[in-house]
Amino acid sequence: MSLSQFNVAISRLRVGGFVPYSSVDCPGELAAVVFLQGCSWACDYCQNPHLRSFRKSSEVSWEQVLTALQERRGLLDMVIFSGGEPLAQIGLEEAMTQVRAMGFKVGLHSAGSSPRRLRAVLPICDWVGLDIKAMTSDYAALTHRANSGQQAWECLDHLLAAGIPYEIRTTWHPQLMPVATLMRLAEELRTRGVRCFRLQAMRGRACLRAELDDWPPAHLDAAVQASLAAMFDEFSWRGGE
Ligand code: SF4
Repeated sequence: MSLSQFNVAISRLRVGGFVPYSSVDCPGELAAVVFLQGCSWACDYCQNPHLRSFRKSSEVSWEQVLTALQERRGLLDMVIFSGGEPLAQIGLEEAMTQVRAMGFKVGLHSAGSSPRRLRAVLPICDWVGLDIKAMTSDYAALTHRANSGQQAWECLDHLLAAGIPYEIRTTWHPQLMPVATLMRLAEELRTRGVRCFRLQAMRGRACLRAELDDWPPAHLDAAVQASLAAMFDEFSWRGGE
């Protein structure tokens, strides 16, 4: 890629938000989080509707982010690209390359919307948090996008093949996914080679599909938690109660 192509890609990067310090977005790392603007999916439980539009102009310029990072060299371990859906951004690879050149580790939070783009950035990533939302056949009902399930599960295979640290995350509520389906999902993840699985309760707050806000907190039976824990080297449940 020529320098001018690099600059064009960077100039198209849209930043929807920036958190300068976070200790909760990647285990064991003090990270800054860059929220990239835009996502083509429409998950019923999405709590970031302000980050979905591709038309919205940048809240923060990439130059401002770089300046803030420059001031935090030596204080931060990692810069995590989140969203929205970072893989939807032209310029993600270039932005990651810049951040790595500054001496930071690179992290990615993704819903797995583009296997091709994930493959392109995996060599630059030190850690990836990938959402697997459902079994392949159930994805479109949740995301309202055809083929989203195929894309996400293909991304999972690429991530596991890359051999870098990761966690696979699923947002769960019994009214979205019966426990029997959750166990099938976990078994499929385990069979594919997932060793680190984080399950988190869907929280009914400002969801894209407003009726989900009225659902009761998700409760996961202790016996089910124990069964899931036995399937993975690392497992955690973050409840909604
Ligand atoms: S993947 Fe779903 S939850 Fe994530 S930003 Fe897009 S619509 Fe929201």
